[in-house]
Amino acid sequence: GQKVVLITGCSSGIGLRIAVTLARDEKKRYHVIATMRDLKKKDKLVEAAGDAYGKTLMLLPLDVCSDESVRQCIDNVKDRHIDILINNAGVGLLGPLESISIEEMKRVFETNFFGVVRMIKEVMPDMKKRRSGHIVVMSSVMGLQGVVFNDVYTASKFAMEGFCESMAVQLMKFNIRLSMIEPGPVHTEFETKMMEDVAKMEYPGADADTVRYFKDVYLPSSIDIFEAMGQTPEDIANCTKKVIESNSPRFRNLTNSLYTPIVALKYADETGGLSVNTFYNLLFNFGPLMHITMSILKCLTCSCLRRRTISPN
Ligand code: NAD
Repeated sequence: GQKVVLITGCSSGIGLRIAVTLARDEKKRYHVIATMRDLKKKDKLVEAAGDAYGKTLMLLPLDVCSDESVRQCIDNVKDRHIDILINNAGVGLLGPLESISIEEMKRVFETNFFGVVRMIKEVMPDMKKRRSGHIVVMSSVMGLQGVVFNDVYTASKFAMEGFCESMAVQLMKFNIRLSMIEPGPVHTEFETKMMEDVAKMEYPGADADTVRYFKDVYLPSSIDIFEAMGQTPEDIANCTKKVIESNSPRFRNLTNSLYTPIVALKYADETGGLSVNTFYNLLFNFGPLMHITMSILKCLTCSCLRRRTISPN
């Protein structure tokens, strides 16, 4: 029969595209429950789903930050039976640490970390009873390697990686699979909007040098990286589909072979010096040569990591 897939954060970006890709599966193998905080934002998804809407795709409201909303949503699923849970909802946070309030940081952890924990807590007991299920978490390469000025976002994804690495062992005993998807940069509206907002802001609390490094050095190189190696939400949806259709899904799944060299630095030198120095040089010394640097790095791709990368095609 059809597998029931519940996905969080489906009003835009990657979540929307995963929902549509699975709902439009040619063999109709999935019954997709696409969830979002506010159903008023459903139009883009409904349009993209076309005639799958109402057939292989249905909608439910869900805010991953609310215990009540999570419980209600799962109670509304027939027999609370979910075969595949895809934790996609997440928020970004970018900028000099001095300008970010602890409240804003907690909001990121509340969504990116506790949101996933809340979902897993609600869905896992039923999966354990049935001795089957697959939990997928949308992590990021920033769950594996820190990135300057993304300090708190990165920390939230690292937290998720540690949590899942621990859970995976217990879940394996119950025949429940756990997979992390680790995209590099992905073109979503979110990215363009964030870049625009960020360039306009004043950054109170941060000194002039820090603000300059952020706006004039980090932001342009970050835009370069997005241009040079950004993937589409379709790419990530295709990778995710491959992971859930695999007979023996891997725990970690990078999606972007252009970005793997950056992650490989960490494994090439476990003291951390190589990655910290390379990032420093990329940012402050070769900024304008970012494209060339990227191609050199690409040639250096460590073969063990290439094996870990899922190709979207
Ligand atoms: P996006 O902003 O388009 O999608 C995130 C979705 O999560 C939105 O629909 C948003 O409404 C939803 N959301 C936020 N808070 C929520 C909450 N409390 N409850 C329910 N839904 C909530 O951005 P995206 O790029 O599609 O991001 C999807 C996931 O992919 C995130 O976890 C993000 O961290 C991760 N990711 C993104 C990139 C990238 O470059 N865009 C790279 C790696 C990983």
